[in-house]
Amino acid sequence: MNRIRILHFNHALGPLDYRVPDGMAVEPGSVVLAPLGPRQIVGIVWEADRLEASEVPDSKLRPLLQVLPVPPLRAPLRRLIEWTADYYCAPLASVARMALSSTAALRGGGTMTEYRLTGHEPARLTPQRAAAMDALHGEQATIRELADMASVSEGVLRGMAGAGLLEPVTVDLDRPYPRARPEHAQPELSEEQAAAAEQFVSAVRDGGFQPFLLDGVTGSGKTECYFEGLAEALRNGRQVLVLLPEISLTENFLRRFEARFGTPPVLWHSSLKATERRRAWRAIASGEVQVVVGARSALFLPYAKLGLIVVDEAHEVSFKQDDGVRYNARDVAVIRARFEGVPVILASATPALESLQLAEAGVYRKIDLPARFGGASLPAIEVIDLRVEQPERGRWLAPRLVEEMKLRLERGEQSLLFLNRRGYAPLTLCRHCGYRFQCPNCTAWLVEHRLSRRLACHHCGHETPVPDACPECGTPDCMVACGPGVERIADEVAELLPGARVAVVTSDTLSGPEKIAAFVAAAEGKLIDVIVGTQLVTKGYHFPELTLVGVVDADLGLEGGDLRAAERTYQQVAQVAGRAGRGAKPGEVLIQTRHPEAAVIAALVAGDRDAFYAAEAEGRRSAGAPPFGRWAAIIVSSEDEAEARDAARAIGGTAPRLDDVMILGPAPAPMSLLRGRYRYRLLVNARRSAQVQAIIREWLGGLNFPSSVRVHVDIDPYSFV
Ligand code: ADP
Ligand code: ZN
Repeated sequence: MNRIRILHFNHALGPLDYRVPDGMAVEPGSVVLAPLGPRQIVGIVWEADRLEASEVPDSKLRPLLQVLPVPPLRAPLRRLIEWTADYYCAPLASVARMALSSTAALRGGGTMTEYRLTGHEPARLTPQRAAAMDALHGEQATIRELADMASVSEGVLRGMAGAGLLEPVTVDLDRPYPRARPEHAQPELSEEQAAAAEQFVSAVRDGGFQPFLLDGVTGSGKTECYFEGLAEALRNGRQVLVLLPEISLTENFLRRFEARFGTPPVLWHSSLKATERRRAWRAIASGEVQVVVGARSALFLPYAKLGLIVVDEAHEVSFKQDDGVRYNARDVAVIRARFEGVPVILASATPALESLQLAEAGVYRKIDLPARFGGASLPAIEVIDLRVEQPERGRWLAPRLVEEMKLRLERGEQSLLFLNRRGYAPLTLCRHCGYRFQCPNCTAWLVEHRLSRRLACHHCGHETPVPDACPECGTPDCMVACGPGVERIADEVAELLPGARVAVVTSDTLSGPEKIAAFVAAAEGKLIDVIVGTQLVTKGYHFPELTLVGVVDADLGLEGGDLRAAERTYQQVAQVAGRAGRGAKPGEVLIQTRHPEAAVIAALVAGDRDAFYAAEAEGRRSAGAPPFGRWAAIIVSSEDEAEARDAARAIGGTAPRLDDVMILGPAPAPMSLLRGRYRYRLLVNARRSAQVQAIIREWLGGLNFPSSVRVHVDIDPYSFV
């Protein structure tokens, strides 16, 4: 009897067993099509003893239908899927789904049909067709994607195809990618860089698990160094995965990669077109793709012969996924490298305390690049005490900062103002009755965006036009903006420095690769004098004429008191400071604050990172916080407030009593309403010795809730809202 067990995507059903028909060859990892009731499901053949057993007797088993035409998922990836599900208390099925992230790719190679405009322009067009013609200029994609781009129905586009306005194009899915060449443009490395690069090269050549922490100041050439490790992997015919925290950074990375290796790498992120996704997935699985650069989701792809993983800007909190499977891609990258038996490089100018701790403990090999490349000096950092040097009434920039900006403008140099707040103002209220604009779905104020004339919620996306009169008391024109956002700072710069060319850089303004490329070109071409931006401009960019950085409000990140607030402030300010003086001209950084005495501000000014980290580590140690103790959050939510509260109380009421675990709550979450769901939270604080996941699984496993209640476990949480 040829009985096998499969893992599939419906985790409510658990693993299922099937019979392998005569003549069909399967092995662990084979991706198969199986019958389930009247339907067909995709599953992965798994080692039967590693999954829960199924009760079905041999005689009742149904036969598998087909082995899908993709290589079997390799054992290291299967172990990674199991590890991730186990560590993050997530369903195996949800993690497996991240590996099979292009269902189209499972159908095999061959061709797909995309459509593009024919160029034929009839004299008369319906308004919908005319709008589609405008929107689809130069585009080629599937009908569904084109419909999305043009905001018309698929029916409209089918009609256009019938009328000869759109034409089908056959796309070969398995056409090869251009080859990257390791010797294309080898840089001349400094002595320090060469020493670092040599360690990566030999680790890649020798193979085996080897985690590195590449700790180099901004502008030290970390990318140049890990590119050498990458080149060695290419020479050996092995694949490389480079994880970046944000898609906005890829533009810059692609250019540098192409300059070094002669061709761009393969991109992977959530907004790829279906054909690109299918082509990339298949070529990654076949081993044809050499280098993948991507966001977190690239981590679970089925690489055929991985040789190296790089996590750039490894300290970034956006590596932590906060919905679906709540995993930290930085940490899972190290685990994947361990299962694959390959080196992994975590690169950062401001490593996470957790990473530094592991380096100190000897788990990671630490490689330092303490100086900038080419003799550029690190910028001088000074504080502006806002209690003493006050901005004018109704303004946010202190006179000294404005003077320095004027000086840069006169010299033809650039300034960057950093404020981590999108929009015009974080809060809008009625001057007459005090009414505050609040999101109907979230515990959050609506943020005014003047560029788009809307009030927006940054949590759920709810938007409404700015009304002419107060919705509460009806007074016309009574809205006042409270506090600054980047748009308001940009207005202030325009008033104070007439003639300065100001660019606002946020996720609202740089929403796609074209806009990012246009911004970089304008900044490099000296078409911008002042950049006002959120954390989006703190990293990656290299503008030689940028000599002044102003931090508009360094205290902002310290509010709210989350456990990493000080560390995050340090990282953000150090990163944005690192944008100054990267060329021949020295840079200067001015930090506006009301708390110049705060340890993090003092450390930034003194350039004393070690002292800051040491003090921070001490604080964490005594609080039992990571990396010395562990946290987990349990979030309970429902659209019904009472139901959420009752479920949270039921969980609290059955909390285990253990020596090495402390359980706080339940209490309403700080964000007690999010996207229309009421939220309660419990926090678990455990010593490192405690088996937190096992404890939580056993605790929650014994409880049952109505299906309208969601219970999420967040292991090693980054968000405490
Ligand atoms: P980091 O990532 O450490 O901030 P980068 O890798 O971005 O540093 O390097 C900073 C700048 O210095 C980049 O423009 C890079 O091209 C340049 N650079 C670094 N090392 C070299 C080198 N060995 N030869 C030429 N240019 C270099
Ligand atoms: Zn909202």
